[in-house]
Amino acid sequence: MIRFEDVSVTYDGAAEPAVRGVDFEVPEGELVLLVGPSGTGKSTILNSVSGLVPHFTGGTLRGRVTVAGRDTRTHKPRELADVVGTVGQDPLSHFVTDTVEDELAYGMESLGLAPDVMRRRVEETLDLLGLADLRDRPIATLSGGQQQRVAIGSVLTPHPRVLVLDEPTSALDPAAAEEVLAVLQRLVHDLGTTVLLAEHRLERVVQYADQVAVLPAPGAALLLGTPAEMMAV
Ligand code: ADP
Ligand code: ADP
Repeated sequence: MIRFEDVSVTYDGAAEPAVRGVDFEVPEGELVLLVGPSGTGKSTILNSVSGLVPHFTGGTLRGRVTVAGRDTRTHKPRELADVVGTVGQDPLSHFVTDTVEDELAYGMESLGLAPDVMRRRVEETLDLLGLADLRDRPIATLSGGQQQRVAIGSVLTPHPRVLVLDEPTSALDPAAAEEVLAVLQRLVHDLGTTVLLAEHRLERVVQYADQVAVLPAPGAALLLGTPAEMMAV
């Protein structure tokens, strides 16, 4: 579903590539965890899936990235938005509306869906993420875990096949992080969504992953293996 073929990204003015020779694949319906210390290129890889790299970051991409068969070099983020949903570390920066229900509806507004389809998708997503009781709440009054679930819900209503998350639990306590990870696991198992999740703390997320990709140091080769293999590294 996501394929990197010998990908290097060099930002304008940088002497060295931010990532080098990245070659891996995320099969449909798997959750792949991307782990590594800060500065090793995790965000660069995620942004290469959403198309921000190379279109909006001043980076040059060598090699090839395809998402659902679309080459990200010839498709801008807008042309990938129907397949890729993206969630960042800080849910608050993601929100554009006031209430939970409005936020879930917002992402579908440019898709030209019939009003009854949009309503049904909002209901399905509220149920799937355990947000039905919070539908009318101002998002600002929710807990961190609840807010992060709303952020995920808002990118799910367009029914993306791929979800890319950049440290989605970094601002959360362990209980709230568990809430969010349980939601992601349900998406993968129940809907067959493909998930690429970046995280700097391997322990927190590893039990949920089908495969683990490790960036050990800036510019180093990416190592790929099962959670058990990577826990031993
Ligand atoms: P991580 O997500 O693992 O912290 P990043 O992909 O954010 O790593 O960063 C990898 C390297 O690329 C760092 O040296 C960072 O400073 C640099 N970098 C990231 N984004 C940009 C950008 N838009 N322009 C220039 N340099 C960048
Ligand atoms: P509709 O356009 O009527 O919502 P779709 O064909 O897009 O129907 O969706 C089919 C089914 O996929 C829905 O009934 C729903 O249960 C399920 N679904 C819900 N969320 C997602 C999602 N994020 N990605 C894929 N399928 C989803």
